[in-house]
Amino acid sequence: MSSYKCAKCGEIIPSMPQGVIRCPSCANKILYKMRDNVTKDIKAR
Ligand SMILES: [Zn+2]
Repeated sequence: MSSYKCAKCGEIIPSMPQGVIRCPSCANKILYKMRDNVTKDIKAR
């Protein structure tokens, strides 16, 4: 799962239906794709 952050208002969208890439708050279509494995869920080897 990947989350998105709006480039305009900073709204974080935890999940997005396929084909619909739009901010629910301001309807901006420019979103940053965020990786959620930066600080958590790192598998130890
Ligand atoms: Zn927005």
